[in-house]
Amino acid sequence: MGLSAVADRLLKGVAKKATSAVAADSKQVVQAADKAAEGLAASGRAAGGKLAGDSLELSSKAVATLAGAARALPDPPAGAALDAATAAAAGRMPAPATRTGEWLTVANHLHTTPYSPDANEPEADLIQRLEKAGVDGMILTDHNSMGGTLTPEWQAAESKLIMTPGMEWGALRETGMTVQGHAGLIGLTGTTNIPTNATIDEMIPFAKARNAFIVANHPYLDGNAWATRPVLQPEVGGVEVWNGQWALSDPISHNAQALSWWDSMLKQGRHLTAVGGSDFHGDWWTKFPRLPGSSPVKPVDLLFASEHSPEGVKQAIADGHVSVESSDTAAKIVLEADPKHDGSWSAIQGDDINVAQDGTIPMRAHVLGGKGLTVEFYGKAGQVGSYPVMTDDAYVPYSAVGVPNVKDYVRAELKQHPGQWWSMTALTNPIYVN
Ligand SMILES: [Zn+2]
Ligand SMILES: [Zn+2]
Repeated sequence: MGLSAVADRLLKGVAKKATSAVAADSKQVVQAADKAAEGLAASGRAAGGKLAGDSLELSSKAVATLAGAARALPDPPAGAALDAATAAAAGRMPAPATRTGEWLTVANHLHTTPYSPDANEPEADLIQRLEKAGVDGMILTDHNSMGGTLTPEWQAAESKLIMTPGMEWGALRETGMTVQGHAGLIGLTGTTNIPTNATIDEMIPFAKARNAFIVANHPYLDGNAWATRPVLQPEVGGVEVWNGQWALSDPISHNAQALSWWDSMLKQGRHLTAVGGSDFHGDWWTKFPRLPGSSPVKPVDLLFASEHSPEGVKQAIADGHVSVESSDTAAKIVLEADPKHDGSWSAIQGDDINVAQDGTIPMRAHVLGGKGLTVEFYGKAGQVGSYPVMTDDAYVPYSAVGVPNVKDYVRAELKQHPGQWWSMTALTNPIYVN
């Protein structure tokens, strides 16, 4: 079956019958894409760039090679059509009755020119674009620069968007040594840049002293070495599990691998916030949708902030009150629990539930605009449930088991096709149970 036929079938919604055929096709596509991405990385390096590991150092020849090779990558089975298929009048996610605050849609991991040399969109244009899209806030993370947070545009737009400052730090650039990985420093205060002639471990105290929430950005992008450490630094609070468009960018960002790395650390009892970042680099990047960074709202983070402010946004991420949605118009999902068994649904993702004795804890995924999709629940034991979403405003129930002092968690993924990683539409952070 050809790819366009696969896409047709997916869009017409005859998913059940098509699933096994699609799975076979998708495997081939993914293998081909992986192979192409390997070649892409090698040719980028040969062309004189430190490809993707630090996009600051891409030569123009490397960029041309990268763009050409990206164009040659095969399309993923459904990722490209995902937004069209699921876009719905999802509406605003309501706050839990027992909590003060609001669910906000925030665009994260954004680059602008001139502060990120590999970006081509000025900050004012990006702000305008995000205001038009109707998102609530943005987190600016230029490469090794706070320059974008010092502009008149940044100050002027504050009334419309919640403008959270930040920086994407990349190591060892000046010394010509291997890049160790990029870190998203969300909510970084101050006006000076964090030194880059340092290792990740040397950078961390600088970032913490300036109140940053530290995210391991795109941990499997070529040249990044986050996952090679035996233990992720305890000061690192988040992992960018979703960089660029989920399936389209996967051969370069390796999102599925990042997700499973994050999940493996949850299994070890670590609390880490999964975040999404578009890695937006401006409209010249949109010619190459397989590269992360082609749209500032793919993906976005849906986060529960108790305060409508940059600090509120940062705190929501630090607290794990975050879902990642494939775009600002795609289906939304959040996770709630009712640990008091009184119908108050007082716990949300990122919260800790401590049980006094063995027992069940009612949970539910609230899904907006997701009719026809599937909610999959995951915990320490792997996948623990899979349920169809029947309406566009649905509560999908799940019953968790709590055992005192036994660390477990429940998190949810929203997919177009059950069991098919590439059809991811949204995901939540976990509610921790112990
Ligand atoms: Zn980066
Ligand atoms: Zn970036």
